[in-house]
Amino acid sequence: MRFGGSSLLGAARRLQAAGLVRSGARSSEVVVVVSAMKGVTDRLLSISRFLSEGKLAHARNEAEGVIHLHFDVLHDLQLAEEQEDHVRRALQLLGRDFLHEVRQKGRVEATAELADRLASFGERLCARLFAAALEKSCVAAVPVSSSDFVLTCDTFRDARPHLAETKKRGRGILLPLLEDGLVPVVTGFIGATPDGRITTLGRNSSDFSGAIIAHVVDAEELVIWTDVDGVFTANPHLSAEAKLLHDLSYDEAHALAASGAKVLHPHVLPLAAETDMTIWIRNTFKPHVRGTRIGLPRHANDVARFGGAV
Ligand code: ASP
Ligand code: MG
Repeated sequence: MRFGGSSLLGAARRLQAAGLVRSGARSSEVVVVVSAMKGVTDRLLSISRFLSEGKLAHARNEAEGVIHLHFDVLHDLQLAEEQEDHVRRALQLLGRDFLHEVRQKGRVEATAELADRLASFGERLCARLFAAALEKSCVAAVPVSSSDFVLTCDTFRDARPHLAETKKRGRGILLPLLEDGLVPVVTGFIGATPDGRITTLGRNSSDFSGAIIAHVVDAEELVIWTDVDGVFTANPHLSAEAKLLHDLSYDEAHALAASGAKVLHPHVLPLAAETDMTIWIRNTFKPHVRGTRIGLPRHANDVARFGGAV
């Protein structure tokens, strides 16, 4: 299950999302992939610009603002005291690393590498908080940084994953957690080079991370929880004619994306088609709505899954 930034904005939405994971975890093993809270990645990238312009006070203020935002969510989650202390310490450690990057002595060169390192804190803080929301919802969860196993090239800000190696390393980390009955909460968007430098897979790539991680654990389904009911024939906010599409083949979804519809990150469909992965696009705020299913036609899917026995 991948959750987008608007599904994670504030404590109430986070707990709503956590409830969806709890329901899912009753019948299946679930891995969660999160993006940063809505608006946070933009703020983190502006910090890297401030640093390069020598606007150090701006950079520091903005960084402190981002950290506070996360502490506010922690406060609003109203965790039990001991748990809150534990999560606060984890956020403090992340915050300290983050501020260390921002407290430069003078103007720094705005490299893509620095931008990725700063941007990574949005997902890292968010994963920690979402694991806490799950614990509060009685789901045992553990935050996992995808930079520990999503291996990429060093094209910072638009890095490509090395899938085979990522799968090998990712299974080593995620499968034991699943065996222990834990829900891993993995950071979307980020990876690392072979020598351990943090990269990102490009803007809005957390659904691509979702597909990569679904592939790593051989998930039957990837559910993209977002703030619309599914894929429409046109932008539902702009056109009253827009119709919700219930079932799409990979080719149909691809054609829609090619015609300009913002369906999914461009790397998701090729990976899903290659691995016969079923994708659901569903509304976090309207879980009773079925959403859009993208995948093999149902019958072909059964044949593929049961080796022609049906
Ligand atoms: N947080 C990242 C971004 O804003 C990734 C995502 O939202 O999918 O680009
Ligand atoms: Mg986003």
